[in-house]
Amino acid sequence: MNQSKLISWVVPCFNEHQVISETITRVLNVSKSLKNYSWEVIFVDDGSSDNTKDIIKAFAQDNEAIKLISLSRNFGHQNAVQAGLDASRGSAVIIIDADLQDPPELASSMLEYWENGYKVVYGRRIDRASETIFKKITALLYYRILNFLSEIPIPLDTGDFRLIDQELVLTLKAMPEKGRFLRGLISWSGYKQIGIPYRRDKRHGGVSKYSLKKMVLFAISGITSFSRRPLRLATIFGSICGLISFLLALWVIYIRLFTNSWVQGWAGLAIGILFLSAIQLLCLGILGEYIGRIYEESKSRPMYLIDDKVGFDH
Ligand code: UDP
Ligand code: MG
Repeated sequence: MNQSKLISWVVPCFNEHQVISETITRVLNVSKSLKNYSWEVIFVDDGSSDNTKDIIKAFAQDNEAIKLISLSRNFGHQNAVQAGLDASRGSAVIIIDADLQDPPELASSMLEYWENGYKVVYGRRIDRASETIFKKITALLYYRILNFLSEIPIPLDTGDFRLIDQELVLTLKAMPEKGRFLRGLISWSGYKQIGIPYRRDKRHGGVSKYSLKKMVLFAISGITSFSRRPLRLATIFGSICGLISFLLALWVIYIRLFTNSWVQGWAGLAIGILFLSAIQLLCLGILGEYIGRIYEESKSRPMYLIDDKVGFDH
């Protein structure tokens, strides 16, 4: 009987028919080259409308290490990854995108660190040359803002490409939190972590499956999951505006009582009203985001629904 440690790959896929065969081949090649381990590769089809699922199924027929979980609809990248983690059995799990932007070959160094006691080994992007300027700038700004706001430090320039130990996988399985921001939850766990630098390649084929809308929602979810500072900032904004309004009021009273030029100032008034309305709406919006999160959590709906499973005996 093979006593080697089992390592699970988790690969979320959404309409990836252009790359998936190549991804499977490369992941299998890497797996075979690491002789001391046994493997399972769990593909999670996140409600693709193309034939991604069929391609994976065809590979799964010839190789029992390849497994497929097919979700009933598109639940989003983070939920798809969670579905893979939930089904994984490995002593360690490597999460990797299906588009080969992250090189599976990094697995060997990740495993080395893991064997040396690290519970999390994440890929740190040192070069995003292949990505659009828009993505680079928004990512650069976002992770810095997130870290400023967040109560726990979240490593910069990382994604979900990482190896995590089974212990952490079990912790994540037990967490019911929706609107997941996995990379944050993993930092939050506080387990011994290390980053290894790598070059993020171009997508092997197809286009990004993270629409602008998905990106914005994901970004907001990251902030609201890990920080209450926006709420405090709203209070601070409110206080500052209150103070300014008070000073302005003194000025207005002074002009009204002691000068003759009190009819003027309409522009200032209009700007004041517009500014304060905007601040009020902004603060309401911030409140709304957090209330929305409470609403989502309180519904306790499952994170995903499975339609079909291939290659599992559990
Ligand atoms: N993905 C997913 N569900 C989605 C969107 C994306 O499972 O709703 C998968 C996608 O197939 C890929 C990974 O998540 O394997 C990362 O997506 P993508 O490469 O499109 O994002 P980007 O690298 O452009 O940020
Ligand atoms: Mg990608």
